[in-house]
Amino acid sequence: MFLNETELIEDMVNMNYHSGHLRTKHGHVPLHYLIASNGKNKEQRDDLVRMDNRDIDADPNYWLIRGKGEVAVFGLTGLVKEVYKKEGEEWRPILFRPNAYGNFREFSGRGVEEIIDDVYRTVGTLKFRHETGDAAQYEVAELERKKELFNWWTQRVIARFGDFRKVYNPEDIVPDFNDHMAIIKIMERCKRGCLYCPERRGLKLYTEEQIEENADTALRVATEYHGDNVSRFTELFYNGSDWFWNYLEPNGVDPLKIIEIGRERFPNALKTYAFAGTPTVNKVQLLDKGYHRRMAKEIYSFLIGHESFDDITSRFLGKGETAQEKKDAFNTLKDAGVSKIKTIIQVGMIGEGFYYKDDKGDRKFRSRWDHLEETARHIIDMMGMKSDRHWFNHRKDKVLISRYQPIDGTPLKRLHDEGSIVKPYSEPGMIEEEIEWLREQLRQNGVLVETEYEYAINEGKPADKHIPMETEFRPELVARLKAA
Ligand code: SF4
Repeated sequence: MFLNETELIEDMVNMNYHSGHLRTKHGHVPLHYLIASNGKNKEQRDDLVRMDNRDIDADPNYWLIRGKGEVAVFGLTGLVKEVYKKEGEEWRPILFRPNAYGNFREFSGRGVEEIIDDVYRTVGTLKFRHETGDAAQYEVAELERKKELFNWWTQRVIARFGDFRKVYNPEDIVPDFNDHMAIIKIMERCKRGCLYCPERRGLKLYTEEQIEENADTALRVATEYHGDNVSRFTELFYNGSDWFWNYLEPNGVDPLKIIEIGRERFPNALKTYAFAGTPTVNKVQLLDKGYHRRMAKEIYSFLIGHESFDDITSRFLGKGETAQEKKDAFNTLKDAGVSKIKTIIQVGMIGEGFYYKDDKGDRKFRSRWDHLEETARHIIDMMGMKSDRHWFNHRKDKVLISRYQPIDGTPLKRLHDEGSIVKPYSEPGMIEEEIEWLREQLRQNGVLVETEYEYAINEGKPADKHIPMETEFRPELVARLKAA
């Protein structure tokens, strides 16, 4: 069983916590490591702890565990992400930031600025282990660097997130954007024209010089705010609608050159990500059978926006490829050795359903359940426990279930607004019902699912109603956020 933060936090309520002996209710000791503290009284002191043991693929993070009944969670670069406060026997979130766009949500009325400054002021009072002589010689330099990690205050945090906008455009989608991810933009727009997408047509591939310039900007901004700790940027997203355009288009830059540009600036970024598309993956495979194998050594994870595995729905959305072609692309990348594939599904795109003309020209209705059932069936066939390929191959692959957010200016939003071809939802809660249904179908069949993906879109400024619905590891947190 994987541990989750809520469970660990609740154990502290039970006073099971003392340095080096953090224990869960089940007696499990998660991998954690005290790096700084400000006292000996275990019930009053504040401790800074590095937490390692969550999920095989999850990044470690830092926790400030405060005697006054507060826990702050920081990312790998020391930026505060979440703060929880004990109220009676309950732990409630008072600050929450779901990604690296910097869109903090505050639930206590104290204000973002006060909470953030309070957290960093407290870290400033702690003695790091090397300062108390309680560290081996070899640890001293690392602890000194860790201390630097927490040298933040509100205005600097806000400025940092603001300046990072130089490396992406407001309409760009950066999945799983976190505090230790660099972004290098490699192209603009797209060759396709999906009904729901804000990307304009007219693909523009950047030249090698432009990509170098973007990589330099990414490094400059990261260094300005993170100094030597820029070495902690272990993830890199090559930002563009489809990685394989560069291979297929005559004016494309050699993808290996792009990798070299990224690696020169961010040598520790071993986890590299890019979007890919079904038609391009399959076309490259036809042209050069060994290409994906070579690419799998360079790109850690591809993200493919399938949205639906129902052929009729896909066609309606402007994506003509069939479910079989989607599965072929997935299996081609998997067979080539790509470590992780993220399959993106959007729920809510067709409301309750849509009208279309079949091959004979007859008017038909395709319902949301057709889209969902076909999607679940094909994904389970592709990567579920009973799929042809042993499911162990898919222990890192994930399905991201995203909630459709209509984007102004897109044809699909117009169809939703008009309501004659797309039948909009007639009752609240229908989209949640769909997400729940799809998630359960997939989970019961051994498919890993994430449902927070919508945070990556909408300019990183989710509307207030988009409270995190659920996370894989923190269901109880979700219940509280919903109640907040
Ligand atoms: S959804 Fe993807 S493939 Fe479709 S137009 Fe947008 S960027 Fe291109």
